[in-house]
Amino acid sequence: MLQAVSKAFFSVLADSKGLKSLASRYGMRARGGFARRFIAGEAVEEAIEAARAIERDRLMVTLDFLGESVATMAEADAATRAYLGVIDKIAASGVERNISLKLTQLGLTIDRATCVDNLRRILDAGQAKDFFVRIDMENSPFTAVTLDVFETMWQQGYRNAGVVLQSCLPRSEADAERMNALGARVRLVKGAYKEPKDVAYQSKADVDAAFVRIMRLLLAGGHYPAIATHDEAMIAATRAFAAERAIDPARYEFQMLYGIRRDLQTRLKTEGYRVRVYVPFGREWFPYFMRRLGERPANIGFVMRGILSER
Ligand SMILES: Cc1cc2nc3c(=O)[nH]c(=O)nc-3n(C[C@H](O)[C@H](O)[C@H](O)COP(=O)(O)OP(=O)(O)OC[C@H]3O[C@@H](n4cnc5c(N)ncnc54)[C@H](O)[C@@H]3O)c2cc1C
Repeated sequence: MLQAVSKAFFSVLADSKGLKSLASRYGMRARGGFARRFIAGEAVEEAIEAARAIERDRLMVTLDFLGESVATMAEADAATRAYLGVIDKIAASGVERNISLKLTQLGLTIDRATCVDNLRRILDAGQAKDFFVRIDMENSPFTAVTLDVFETMWQQGYRNAGVVLQSCLPRSEADAERMNALGARVRLVKGAYKEPKDVAYQSKADVDAAFVRIMRLLLAGGHYPAIATHDEAMIAATRAFAAERAIDPARYEFQMLYGIRRDLQTRLKTEGYRVRVYVPFGREWFPYFMRRLGERPANIGFVMRGILSER
């Protein structure tokens, strides 16, 4: 309940232009910028540097060039070209070739066909350079269309892509079966957005119970699923189910966000599990940052300390 209120509050704040410009002034300062705990930097070079440090700890990475909800075709085209540049730089750097992106970044809210064309440009470039491209899942108005676009690309032979399912949505169990039948790689998350009652579970207990059910579907019948959570109870349930079914830890991976539960990331790695860290970067970091605050209001204290220490 508290988490639902907090998500709603922070999603309203995320639309505030004044707050955004204030945060932009302080958040990403080279030293002590409070947003740097969750975001690797504004430039791809900073993300690559963060990825190298993570890989030195023998964890894996996926890099997310932040951006969402572009408003014009020109912006969608610019975002796509920027992403192609990022692909080149990652390829040249030698860090793992694995990226995450959002379809509204490529124009989904403006025109589906344009978005599909833009996605195809990225998948083609990615395929040529052996990248894996994860299509993040956004809020519920985009669930069906995101899965449809993914499935269209899959049918066209793009196998270097995967999707995300959110356990807060009751529909996700059927979607997991559908993705398993396809042979597609799924990342399972709880869901970062404030969703209405008619499409989403509202209580943590329901979201967690669904997470466990979908995790079992994916581990038993899926294709190298990613279990993306910092929740130790979800991780324990995954490990227990894998042990019970004798599923080798090489057949799935855990994923966590940059800057969150680094202790747990390294502990799991040490215990023999595959762990991937999601490394976001780019100038459009504000909505992502606000979602991280909404998940854990205690983070506000940490942000306020950052702002006050700047003065
Ligand atoms: C790799 C990855 C990719 C993701 N991709 C998507 C996506 O495509 N679409 C989408 O909707 N959501 C995505 N998410 C976000 C996800 O939906 C959740 O909002 C987020 O992971 C928090 O849920 P949790 O599973 O960690 O569990 P929770 O029950 O929310 O948290 C469990 C514990 O984790 C820690 N924790 C969680 N969040 C924070 C935080 N912000 N700051 C500090 N500590 C925290 C706390 O210790 C907390 O007690 C992604 C998450 C990960 C890890």
